[in-house]
Amino acid sequence: MGIILEKTPIILNKIPGGTIALTTADFFINWARKSSIWPLTFGLACCAIEMMAAYATRFDFDRFGVFPRPTPRQADLMLVAGTVVKKMASPLIRIYRQMPEPKFVIAMGSCADCGGPFYDSYSVVKGVDKIMPVDVYLAGCPPRPEALMYAVQKLQEKIGKMEIKENSGATAGQESGARREL
Ligand code: SF4
Repeated sequence: MGIILEKTPIILNKIPGGTIALTTADFFINWARKSSIWPLTFGLACCAIEMMAAYATRFDFDRFGVFPRPTPRQADLMLVAGTVVKKMASPLIRIYRQMPEPKFVIAMGSCADCGGPFYDSYSVVKGVDKIMPVDVYLAGCPPRPEALMYAVQKLQEKIGKMEIKENSGATAGQESGARREL
C-alpha cells in the first residue's frame, strides 16, 4: 500500500474515524489498465520463440500483470511477433477487430516492423502498420525477451497518459487512418 501511495497523485484527508483518499478517474483507470495488460499472442515466426521465453520462469512476464490470452475478446494488446505474410493479413485484421476498445498493438521484431529480411519478398507485408495502427515498434531480429519487456513498459507509459474522453475516438480514428496497402 505504501508503494502505491508514494507514486499516486493522491490527496489524503483525515476525517473523523479514518482517512479519505482522492485521485483523478483518469489516473485510477489508467493505473488499472496498464497494470493488467492481457496480450493476444500472435506468434507468426521465429520472434514468437522469444515472446514465449518472456512468459517462462527466467523472465516471468506475469510480474507485470501481463497474461497471454488465447481469445481476442479477452485481450487488449495484440503482440504481433514474426513475419506477416499477405495471406495472414486478412485473419490478423479480423481478429484485431474482435478485440474490445481500447486496444493496443506491439510490432515485435524487424519483420513486423517493416518486413525485415524479407522486405523484398512478394508475399510479405512490409510492416504490420500497413494494416493496423501500431503503438510500439520493437526492433531486432529477433528482439530478446528483455526488449519485449521494455516495449511493454513503453506501452504502459503511453497508457498512463490516456484520458477517458479520448479513449473511444483515438483508436477508432487510428484504425480508419491506418493504411491498408498490401
Ligand atoms: S525479425 Fe528475425 S527473428 Fe523475428 S520473425 Fe523476422 S526473421 Fe524471424
